[in-house]
Amino acid sequence: MGNTQLRHNVRHATDVIRNKRAKVVAEVSDWEQLRQSAHEIKQHTLRHLDFYLQQFESACKAAGAQVHWARDADEANGIVVGLLKSHRAEEVIKVKTMTSDEVRLNDALEEAGITPIETDLADLIVQLGEDKPSHIVVPALHRNKMEIRRLFMKKMGLEELGDQPEDLTAAARTYLREKFLRVPAAISGANFAVAETGTVCVVESEGNGRMCVTLPEVLISLVGIEKLVPRFADLEVFLQLLPRSATGERMNPYNSFWTGVTHGDGPREFHVILLDNGRTEVLKDEESRETLDCIRCGACLNACPVYRQTGGHAYGSVYGGPIGAILTPQLQSLHHSQTLPYASSLCGACYEVCPVKINIPEILIHLRNKIVERHDDPLTERFAMRAAASAMADSSRLEMAQTLGRIGQIPFAENGVITHLPGILSGWTDVRDLNSIPKESFRAWWKKHLNTLE
Ligand code: SF4
Repeated sequence: MGNTQLRHNVRHATDVIRNKRAKVVAEVSDWEQLRQSAHEIKQHTLRHLDFYLQQFESACKAAGAQVHWARDADEANGIVVGLLKSHRAEEVIKVKTMTSDEVRLNDALEEAGITPIETDLADLIVQLGEDKPSHIVVPALHRNKMEIRRLFMKKMGLEELGDQPEDLTAAARTYLREKFLRVPAAISGANFAVAETGTVCVVESEGNGRMCVTLPEVLISLVGIEKLVPRFADLEVFLQLLPRSATGERMNPYNSFWTGVTHGDGPREFHVILLDNGRTEVLKDEESRETLDCIRCGACLNACPVYRQTGGHAYGSVYGGPIGAILTPQLQSLHHSQTLPYASSLCGACYEVCPVKINIPEILIHLRNKIVERHDDPLTERFAMRAAASAMADSSRLEMAQTLGRIGQIPFAENGVITHLPGILSGWTDVRDLNSIPKESFRAWWKKHLNTLE
C-alpha cells in the first residue's frame, strides 16, 4: 500500500484491460449462455474427474506420450528434475506454467544445477528482476516500461535501448531467440487438457509458447488435474470466453494444441505430469468445489477493489486477487493463508465478470465459516469478537466500553487513527489501521440534537 508507483501501475494496467474486456464482451450476444455452458462443462468434469483423468491418460499414451502422476509439489519437482537429468539438460526453457510457480519448480531446478529460462515476456521480466508475479495473466503488471527498460539494459548488457514497447519486445526477442534455438528441453503448463483425445492446449499472445512446445527435443507439460475438459468440442466455449476475459482480445493470437508425438514434427519425447497438490481435497467440499472451475483469466483481479489497491504481492501466493483468496487457502487445506478469505469487501464484482460463473463471494463466506468452526482464528481475536458482541447487545454496556476505549486510546490515537496497539493486541494493528473512537457517539449526538429541537 505504501508503494505509490506500484499502485499507479496496477490501477492503470487493470483499467486498460477492464475497458478492453467490457468492449469485446458486449459484442457477444450469447455471452451469458456461454458462461453458463462453461460452468456446466466444468462442474460435470469435476463430478467425473476420475473417469476423465483415466481417459486422458489412455489417449495420451496411445498417441505416444508418457504420463506421470504427482501427488504434491515434491513429487512433481522430482519427476521434472529426474527427466531433465536423464537427458543431461543443464538449461530448460519454460512457458505459461503457473503450476510450476505453485510448486516452486525453479528453486528445485536451480538446486539440481539446471537453469530455468522463462520465455513468456512478462515472466522473463519477473525472472530478470528477481521479482515475484503480481497478476495471473500479466505477471509483470506492476512494472512500467521505464522500469523494464532499465532492467533489460542491466541484465542483457545493452548500452542503448528505447523505451517504446516495440524496442523492449525487440530486445527480449533477440535475447530469447538464441535460447529457443539452443536449449533442447522445455517445460510448459496447459490451459486445457482434452480427455477424449489426450490433447494439451496452451493459448498465448506472443508465439513464445508455440516455439517452446515445438522446437525442443523433449517437452514436459505440468498440468493441474482440474484443467481437463471432456471433449475437443468443449474448447469452442472456452476459447471464446478466455481471451475476451483475460486480455480483451477476441481470440488469442496463438492457440497451440499437441497430442503425443509425431515423427519428424515437434518434440521427440513428450511427458505430461498430472498434478494434484491439494486439488482432490478441494474437490471433496461440494460448496467450494467450483473453485477448480477457474480458467485463470484474471478478470476477477482486474475487477476487484481490493486487488486494485494492493496488487498481487500482498496475497503472498502465486494466485492473487479474488481467485487466490479462495484457491490458495483450500490448496493448503486451510492450514495456511487463513486471512485471505477475509481480504474481500464481498462486493460481488468478481462473480459478475467470471467467465465460468464461480460464485467467489459465497465461497469466501463459506471458507470464513469453516475457519471459525475449526477454531483456527486466533484466540485473542475470538475473545475480542465475543467481548464486542456482548457490548453491542446492550446500550449501557456499549456506552461504558466506548468511554473506557476513549480513555485507553489516548496514548495511541493520532489524527483520528490508531496505527499500533501494545502487547497481544499488536497483531491486529500490524496489518491494519483502526479509526479511533470519536469524541462523541452518534447516540449522544442524537440526544443533544433532539433536545435542541424540543
Ligand atoms: S475465478 Fe473466474 S474470473 Fe477469476 S481468474 Fe478464475 S475464471 Fe477468471
